[in-house]
Amino acid sequence: MTLAAGVDAIVIGGSYAGIAASLQLARARRRVLVVDAGIRRNRFAAASHGVLGQDGRPPAAIVADARAQLLAYPTVAWIDGMASEARQAADGFAVTVDGAAYHGRRIVLALGVSDELPAIPGLQERWGVSVFHCPYCHGYELNQGPIGVLATGPMSIHQALLVADWGPTTLLTNGAFEPDEAQVSQLASRGVAIERGRVLRVAGQTADIELGDGSILAFAGLFTMPTTRVSSPIAAQLGCAFEEGPSGSFIGTDPVKATSVAGVFACGDAARAAGSVSLAIGDGAMAGAATHRSLFMPPV
Ligand code: FAD
Ligand code: MG
Repeated sequence: MTLAAGVDAIVIGGSYAGIAASLQLARARRRVLVVDAGIRRNRFAAASHGVLGQDGRPPAAIVADARAQLLAYPTVAWIDGMASEARQAADGFAVTVDGAAYHGRRIVLALGVSDELPAIPGLQERWGVSVFHCPYCHGYELNQGPIGVLATGPMSIHQALLVADWGPTTLLTNGAFEPDEAQVSQLASRGVAIERGRVLRVAGQTADIELGDGSILAFAGLFTMPTTRVSSPIAAQLGCAFEEGPSGSFIGTDPVKATSVAGVFACGDAARAAGSVSLAIGDGAMAGAATHRSLFMPPV
């Protein structure tokens, strides 16, 4: 497919959300260009869990199958690369990739988010291996062993109360917050221990915590709540409105995934408070269908 005449939609981000959106457009025989830098949020994990029909498969294998199925449609083009700019242009938008400009009547932002972990030695290299944020994704594999919850702020109380269903849990407050009296009794009712010592580093085979006083707490795994950021400045460049979630800001959308900018849709982790592969796929399917309809229907 030649791109010189422009496409109906440019989808920026070709992971779960972006491919799901593109699939709907391709099946309506619309012309789609997917631009993808290939830096998926879950690239640190060996297996993806809780995804219907795909439970336990490598995250990259799920994307590879989805991409191959999408590219079987003749009206789809794909560029492996980073979109550096998107702006309004006559009858749509211009998107720049590696110095070349592409025209699309609509834009779908499926940019994902990036995780910023607390700066504690040993944490980053265990991310997706023995340090996680979502117990539904990775809690089962800890086999009910001891779990640490490394606090990053007041929201960590919820993570500690939740995670207790996956194994005996210790909340490491690490100076990030102090539970009040009511929270202390909530934690006690879930059997969660509280450790207030300063966390120096994470070490060992899985996730042992070394505290400021030199003591070591051994854990099968750790959970923590990173700060999340939308993985590209493109949504802000286009003027999309953002909303604040518990872990960071995300692109605001209506129920059909339209953003505040006419002609721009958004889906996946970049456009919800907290995401998963399944939710990204669902959001993507919705955004793809809504983008298709917007090409010929007046907005409702
Ligand atoms: P992503 O998968 O993050 O993909 C976004 C894509 O957009 C990337 O390829 C990126 O490079 C691209 N992109 C961004 N900006 C640009 C640009 N300007 N130009 C071109 N391309 C761009 N969820 C589960 O359901 N099960 C699990 O087991 C699970 N495990 C996880 C483990 C870890 C360690 C982490 C951090 C997350 C995990 N998740 C899991 C969550 C899951 O990774 C996300 O919900 C999912 O990846 C969201 O899909 P997405 O398509 O919105 O974004
Ligand atoms: Mg995507």
